Amino acid sequence: MSEYTEESVRAELRAWLEENWDPDLSLLEWRNILVDSGWGMPQWPKEWFGRDLPVGLLRIVDEEFKRVDAITVARKGATTLAGSTVLAHGSDMLREKFLHRSLTGEDSWCQLFSEPGNGSDLAGAMTRADRQGNKYVVNGQKVWTTSAHLADFGLLLARTDLDVPKHDGLSYFIMDMRQPGVEVVPLRQMNDHASFNQVFMTDAEVPPEYLLENEGDGWKIATTTLMHERRNADSNRRKVEPTKRPERIFQEEAAEIATSMAPYTWYPQRTGRADLIIERAQEAGCNEDPVVRQEIAKLMTMSKAAEWTSKRARAAQEQGRAPGPEGSLGKLAASEVARAANRVHTMINGAGAMLSGADSPSDGLIAEVLISTPAISIAGGTDEIQKNIISERVLKMPKEPRFDTDRPYREVPKNALPQK
Ligand SMILES: Cc1cc2nc3c(=O)[nH]c(=O)nc-3n(C[C@H](O)[C@H](O)[C@H](O)COP(=O)(O)OP(=O)(O)OC[C@H]3O[C@@H](n4cnc5c(N)ncnc54)[C@H](O)[C@@H]3O)c2cc1C
Repeated sequence: MSEYTEESVRAELRAWLEENWDPDLSLLEWRNILVDSGWGMPQWPKEWFGRDLPVGLLRIVDEEFKRVDAITVARKGATTLAGSTVLAHGSDMLREKFLHRSLTGEDSWCQLFSEPGNGSDLAGAMTRADRQGNKYVVNGQKVWTTSAHLADFGLLLARTDLDVPKHDGLSYFIMDMRQPGVEVVPLRQMNDHASFNQVFMTDAEVPPEYLLENEGDGWKIATTTLMHERRNADSNRRKVEPTKRPERIFQEEAAEIATSMAPYTWYPQRTGRADLIIERAQEAGCNEDPVVRQEIAKLMTMSKAAEWTSKRARAAQEQGRAPGPEGSLGKLAASEVARAANRVHTMINGAGAMLSGADSPSDGLIAEVLISTPAISIAGGTDEIQKNIISERVLKMPKEPRFDTDRPYREVPKNALPQK
């Protein structure tokens, strides 16, 4: 039973903020105080910058921070995933070294999982990490790596053993991105943003103490990272707005957001922006059209049902219950809503939906929606992979036939040849 109640959390935090929140501090000074107090990540354990607060009470914490405009810990892209993964699987040395600096925003992270030949089949990763004396030497290529061009460290999934079945030969490392063996090459997307990179590793080095748990535990640890990623995939996340106040701390935060959030500015558009539909229908003068109204009603029904399913999943999580089918359905439902919203935007705006620039519908936002929504069915696991997960784990249907898990990975036919 938790020692906390809504009232006690509110009272304690309110008093703490009154005493400590000071917009005249620098961003780093404030974040150091915040992280040390445990109010930055209160759901984390007390010994690691938290307060063991039940997730169900985080709402109160958010409300109190908003009430006085207090700035929170850094929440940028894979940095949040890194924190949760290092907390769950890192040694005390790694927690000591990385958690505090990630929360203050001094370190940024990227997720080095997907490869040109292994995206959905993540367990097939062929990037090698070979132990040579007192270091691991990493060779291979990653792709789709969001924010790698800004990252100080990467969460690296790499193969340490080809002579065991594929899931057993993977290990999980923290890799310094700022070293000569790591080359980051940006990619530009069809929506004209540049969130992703290719990352080439040529004899890049990783100290053995940067291995999480043991060699061969990589798949288990990657599952933790993916679980956190998928849990957030159904929200309009990363629409982080700077506070428009004149003090230096808010300007520093605005500068941080402008840089670290640049790769994510289009993320709200990938959800399909169902929230713009009614306003757009009114502006376009088709809100009285019975066919359009019918389609809008269908979309809104689907969108509300998905929102409530996701709220049910969150409520279950807050009450400490095991993840149920709602969690698995949320990501897929978000893809369905995005596609349906695309159809309705197109119906409302006609060929104009393809235009960008001045005089285009919503100043080009609708066009950006149309070309950004495919991302939601891919990121963090595609719709088809999500359907496999639902059929196998939730509905307990027979597993997909496998030919690649019953023998050493070296012997499995694949499109990249083992180097040795
Ligand atoms: C916005 C965004 C951000 C991303 N950020 C990162 C990042 O930071 N780090 C990172 O490592 N990766 C990142 N990714 C990559 C993402 O995880 C992969 O794109 C995704 O896992 C799919 O892999 P793939 O692109 O190789 O597609 P493939 O695996 O090649 O899949 C191609 C098609 O085949 C289907 N398919 C594949 N296997 C099966 C199967 N078993 N059954 C049925 N159908 C199947 C897929 O559903 C898909 O339609 C990001 C992707 C996006 C869109």
